[in-house]
Order: sequence, then structure tokens, then C-alpha cells
Amino acid sequence: MYINENFIKLPQSYLFSTVASKLKEYREAHPDADLIRMDIGDVTLPVASCVIEAMHRAVDDMASSDTFHGYGPEQGYPFLREAIAKGDYQERGIDIKADDIFISDGAKSDLGNLGNIYSRKSVIGVADPGYPVYVDSSVMDGRGGDLLSDGRWSRILYMDCKPENGFKPEVPARGVDVVFLCSPCNPTGTVFTRDELKEWVEYAQRNKTLIVFDSAYEAFVRDPEIPRSIYEIEGAKEVAIEIRSFSKTAGFTGLRCGYTVVPSELKGMDREGNEFPLRQLWNRRQSTKFNGASYIIQRGAEALYTPQGREAIKGNIDIYLSNARYIRKAMEAAGFEVYGGDNSPYVWAKLPGEDDSWKLFERILSEAEVSSTPGIGFGESGAGYIRLTGFNSPKNTRKAMERISRINFKKDDALEDEFKSLNDIKAIKALDDLNVLDDITEALGL
Ligand SMILES: *Cc1c(COP(=O)(O)O)cnc(C)c1O
Repeated sequence: MYINENFIKLPQSYLFSTVASKLKEYREAHPDADLIRMDIGDVTLPVASCVIEAMHRAVDDMASSDTFHGYGPEQGYPFLREAIAKGDYQERGIDIKADDIFISDGAKSDLGNLGNIYSRKSVIGVADPGYPVYVDSSVMDGRGGDLLSDGRWSRILYMDCKPENGFKPEVPARGVDVVFLCSPCNPTGTVFTRDELKEWVEYAQRNKTLIVFDSAYEAFVRDPEIPRSIYEIEGAKEVAIEIRSFSKTAGFTGLRCGYTVVPSELKGMDREGNEFPLRQLWNRRQSTKFNGASYIIQRGAEALYTPQGREAIKGNIDIYLSNARYIRKAMEAAGFEVYGGDNSPYVWAKLPGEDDSWKLFERILSEAEVSSTPGIGFGESGAGYIRLTGFNSPKNTRKAMERISRINFKKDDALEDEFKSLNDIKAIKALDDLNVLDDITEALGL
């Protein structure tokens, strides 16, 4: 038996384990430390009560032979596919049908498994920095080529995100077969505008590229001008697969449920140029290798489309968003160059003159007892940046930012005064709301 040697070529990802061991070291050296985690990559608020009730009822269904559910459809139950098609698309003026929707146990599985339906020879394009699953799963499938000395793969096209392009990947000069786009983006918190997405759709049409659009954070978009779905762009149904998740939007990280949209209009080619609908291939893949998401969890997800469910999602995301906005303001005031924190739970920040993410991480840890995630861990273009997240409680978030603002960075006095006055007179509604949010989080025991 010979192994898949692509696994050996793949370097270990040390990012999160190194952060964890550095935090452990710090705690051991400072047993009284009151460390605040601003590197949390998981949601923290509990699942909505209407979802819990729906799941309780679904559990009871399993107890009686009349209502017992065994294997469900591999594509997901019609009740959930229809709720999604209606609630997430048709009601927003997007013509996506229940048949185009495939329920999964989360976005990560689908992002990794999609590689089953396009050619082994496909050239992949990814943003740098980016969510590591796109590159690593492509490498496992043999699409990486060789690992170069700079840590990049020879067959993968990296689209550098830098201050000059606002940390958003630009349409490359050459064509690729598959491109992964993420908006709102993890880790940078940036979002594509309608015009930028239009450029991507046109690029895909010109080059016969498949766009894999990861919109795991779509529910964080509050600006009506920012697209939440790529299908808001004309022609996108012919070029894009959209991957979504209930994880970050509704606290399903531990429950596991997401979905992938493969519109019937989307086609790929064989070597002779004959076209085949991708939906058929994906359906075949799922029917063979997947037996569907749990009935109980799908009933829970269905409840998110009720008025109570929508209200609950909005309430939780409001809290994360106001945290992120607060972080953004505080970091700007402290003299950082900042991206994200708007329509996104992530804030991406750099201290001018400091080009080492780990040094910045260490400094904030030792001087403020606040943890962050070094941006270099998400790709070479992340050097010098750190990622902060809005997933901690409003109280801890404020405490962490107050501590950071006490560090003697090169501060921007004007912005700092503005930040201070926000705290004093609570001029911004979002910050005003934090008092209410504090009560909520206190009541929740966060
Ligand atoms: C969290 C995350 C996912 C994975 O979500 P699951 O549905 O929990 O697997 C996918 N993409 C991005 C960008 C994420 O941050």
C-alpha cells in the first residue's frame, strides 16, 4: 500500500498550536494574569431558544415509530431546502430553487469535498492571506505541485492582498480553473462591493473559471449596498457555487449544518469541450459519499427561518458586530492601520513600522494581557498584521481595548481623542447599545 504522498508534502499548520502554547507559557509565568482572548475563532453566544425547542421536538420524533426518521435524503430534507431557497434567496429577489441547495454538515466539509468534481489538473487561485482550507484541501487532492522555499505551492496562483488593494483579491491577469473567494473575509474582515464582485463574475465568464464563493459570514453584512450572495450579480449562476454555514450566523459550530448552492445553470466541460451540469456531478458525489445531515439538526436549522429565529440571529450578530466596531475604533485610535470590523466580526490590524506579526502578538500579550492571532499564519501577505475577533463578550472586548489603548504605541492623537470622547459621551449608537449588551451578556453569564 502506497500512501497519498501529498499529505507528507503538506507542512504542519503551527498557527493555532503555537498561539495556544505561547498563551500557556504566559499563564504559567504569570499565574495571576487576567488574559483576555481576542483571538477567538468560534462563536460564544448560545443557540436560539426556538432552535433548541425545534430540536427537542425532533428528538421526540425519533422515539415513536410513526414519526421516526432513519436515513434522510442525501441532499437534505425538502423542508429545509425550501426554507433556505425562500428565506435566503427568493425573498431577496434571487432566483435560486430548492433543488439547487444541498444541505451539509458544515461549510468546511463541502469546501474540502468540492475538489471531487473538478479535474485533478485544475489550477487553483486563492487570496493571500486566506482561510487555509482552500490551499490545504487542494494540495491533498494533488493540485499543489511543489512546495517552494517561500512556503507557497508551485501550481497555485496566490492573489496578494495588500493595503494597495484594500486587502481584497484582484482579478488576476491570467485565467485559473477554480478560484476561492471569501466575503466577508476571514481573516481580514473585508467585503466585496457589488462592482468588485461583478468584475469577478466577468473574469469567470471570460476564462471559464469556477468561482467557489464562501459566504460563511453573510449574515454579518448590514450595509444594503454590499452583496450577501454572489447570485445578486447577473450571470453568477453560470459560474459560481456558493457555500454557506449556520456556524457563525446562528451558533451552529458544535451542531454542524451548512449548505452549498449549485445552480442548474452551472456547467463544466470534459476534454472534448462537451458541457455537463455540475449539479449532477455534485449530486452523484453526495449520494455516494454522504448520507445526509442529521434530521434533528436540520429541524433546528429550519427554525432559523421563523420570525423568532431571524430575530435571534440578528440579536447575536448585533453583539458581535458592535464588538468588532468597538475594536476597530480602539485600534485606529491606538495608531494602527485597520481593515474589517464593519459587516464582519474580524478586525485586521497592523502597527506602522512593525513588520513582524509574532512580535506584535507578543507585545500585546505582555503589555495588555490580550491575545490575538498573528496574520502571518494566514499567508505571506499577512506579515505584520494581527487578527482580532468580535466573539468575546462586550465587557471583555471593552476591557481588552482599554488595555491596548494604554500601551504606548505611536498613537494618533486626533483619533484617540475621538475614541475617548466616544467612551465619555457615548456619541455612537453602537457604543450606547453596549450598556444594554453588557446587561444581556451578564444575564447570560458571559
Ligand atoms: C468557520 C468558517 C468555515 C467553516 O464553517 P463550518 O460550517 O463550521 O464548517 C468556512 N469558511 C470560513 C471562511 C470560515 O471562517
